[in-house]
Amino acid sequence: MKFTEAFLNKDLIVRILKKGYSKPTDIQTQVFEPILQGKDVTASAQTGTGKTAAFVWPILQSMLSQENNNKPLQVIVLTPTRELAYQVFEQFEYFAQPFNITPALIIGGEKIDKQIEQINQGAQIIVATLGRLIDLNNQDKIDLSNIQTLVLDEADRMLDLGFEQELKEILKFLPAQKQTLLFSATYPESIKSIISQYLTDPLFIKS
Ligand code: AMP
Repeated sequence: MKFTEAFLNKDLIVRILKKGYSKPTDIQTQVFEPILQGKDVTASAQTGTGKTAAFVWPILQSMLSQENNNKPLQVIVLTPTRELAYQVFEQFEYFAQPFNITPALIIGGEKIDKQIEQINQGAQIIVATLGRLIDLNNQDKIDLSNIQTLVLDEADRMLDLGFEQELKEILKFLPAQKQTLLFSATYPESIKSIISQYLTDPLFIKS
């Protein structure tokens, strides 16, 4: 598949080509359409397969095709570590640059006031680690009730690092009606249980 066949916004294609990518990777090709169709997806993909762009591009494309795409906080990406959050945030920032779509990075170890300001200024996408997100939520500084898309990135690592309770706590604040995309390198019972509890009729994709 070529980028131009993937129904991507032209400015988004230009941005992708500017990065020097010539064609989508396997995982990108496979998840693109189901994500655009609004389906819940679980994808088995290791780091290095292009899995970040595999959700960044269709999420941006979906936002761009909505009439009111500058509604606040529509998308939340949860990651197990600050480093991964930063990498995902950077990709959203780079690919959203031509559009009026702003991502915010919500992680521990950084000034919370600046993050609150970014939320208040109407960031539409948040890339977060759980600890800081729970802090902000407990302080009523973030409204999670309009989230349309949730991404759980490296979900197995999130559970390995002991974040299961925090994850379940935050999921209580998200609307039941939303799209959930779960990326995980492995599928132990704990992940299967999250999938059966929180995803609706998910499509399983293996790259
Ligand atoms: P990830 O699996 O998301 O950690 O991505 C691994 C690396 O692949 C990153 O450095 C990306 O910039 C790069 N990448 C993502 N998509 C493509 C693509 N379609 N063609 C070439 N490289 C890519």
